[in-house]
Amino acid sequence: MSDSDLREEIQNKANAYFDYMVQVRRHLHKNPEVSFKEFETTEYIRHELKKIGIETEQPLDTGCIGIIEGGKPGPVIALRADIDALGMDEEGEAKADFASERPGAAHCCGHDAHTANLLGTANILKDLESEIPGKVVLIFQPAEEKLPGGARLIRDSGVLQKHGVEEIYGLHMNPNYAPGEIAFKPGSFMSCTVEFEIEVIGKGGHAATPHLAVDPIVMSAQIINQFQTVVSRSLDPTEPAVITVGKISAGSVHNVIPAKAEMIGTVRAFSMETARFIKKRIEEILKGVTESAGGSYTFQFTEGYPAVVNEAKCTEKLAESARKVLGNEKVIELQRPMMAGEDFAFYQEEFPGSFFFLGSGSDEADSKWSWHHPRYNIDEKAMITGSSLMAGLILGV
Ligand SMILES: [Zn+2]
Ligand SMILES: [Zn+2]
Repeated sequence: MSDSDLREEIQNKANAYFDYMVQVRRHLHKNPEVSFKEFETTEYIRHELKKIGIETEQPLDTGCIGIIEGGKPGPVIALRADIDALGMDEEGEAKADFASERPGAAHCCGHDAHTANLLGTANILKDLESEIPGKVVLIFQPAEEKLPGGARLIRDSGVLQKHGVEEIYGLHMNPNYAPGEIAFKPGSFMSCTVEFEIEVIGKGGHAATPHLAVDPIVMSAQIINQFQTVVSRSLDPTEPAVITVGKISAGSVHNVIPAKAEMIGTVRAFSMETARFIKKRIEEILKGVTESAGGSYTFQFTEGYPAVVNEAKCTEKLAESARKVLGNEKVIELQRPMMAGEDFAFYQEEFPGSFFFLGSGSDEADSKWSWHHPRYNIDEKAMITGSSLMAGLILGV
């Protein structure tokens, strides 16, 4: 088949499989399972793949890998979808027909659609397998939303290395772009994530005799103020980073100085090296402030996901393929990275690859709500774009 015939064939198939993808997405949406508990979801995916003759492997308790052997020689390319839901309740009339039937679990990050999109892609590729150069490794990954991250566990299981994966691609629905659009960026794309927990330990006492106490609330106020100077005064101004204290709690009544205060928060940066530098500065501030006031502290710093850094050649290949499938004006190059994390970064530590955004926001589908909002939704037409793009990338047209 010529490239243009193949391109047309992919487009026709993506349209033909649209109803199937919608049905899959809505089934998963109705039956969400949270991170590391995606047992039924995994069974469902394996069944769907088996129906079209794709054998699967299960390197972890949940999630699976499917293989498509192409009919021509070529590279081994992995395509990844994450399959887990969030531990929350959802809202929204637009989703009423297929709302979550499980309290405390909801697909409010679009992973239901990522899964449906990859199953649609699998169907297109299976139909055209004789045209595929090389081999395709389909990754249905569990637990993107929860540390240590399913991506890390899949990578460390060795299954991708065993199949000789050479490149990896993944996408995320994005409510800020319209269906039919994609957004990409070479280099830094999404930040690394770190969580911290702090206890500021003083000495409790009567509110009217502060000189006999060590006030952890006053120390905490100073600490939080000093944190504001880490990014503005300790870090190279060209290096983006964030420190946010997301919760602080201390005390219980008007007239008591409590014995301790607690705060939790997050650090975001575009390299773990920068995050570790911030960790050092946080600890210096904690030490300095508490020591000078006669108190002490505890500090825990948990490294989450590394930064998503898109490899230049893979990203160019993706953008090139997208321009052919979607047209130049629908392929948007982002100028700035985003301060949110993704465990896709773990694959990129070992395999060159590219992660991109698939536009899924429209008024019609009430799908412009931010990720993790109870009303979060996607415009399902995004899956036509997503599956044709992924298939086009594999088939090289
Ligand atoms: Zn999420
Ligand atoms: Zn997500």
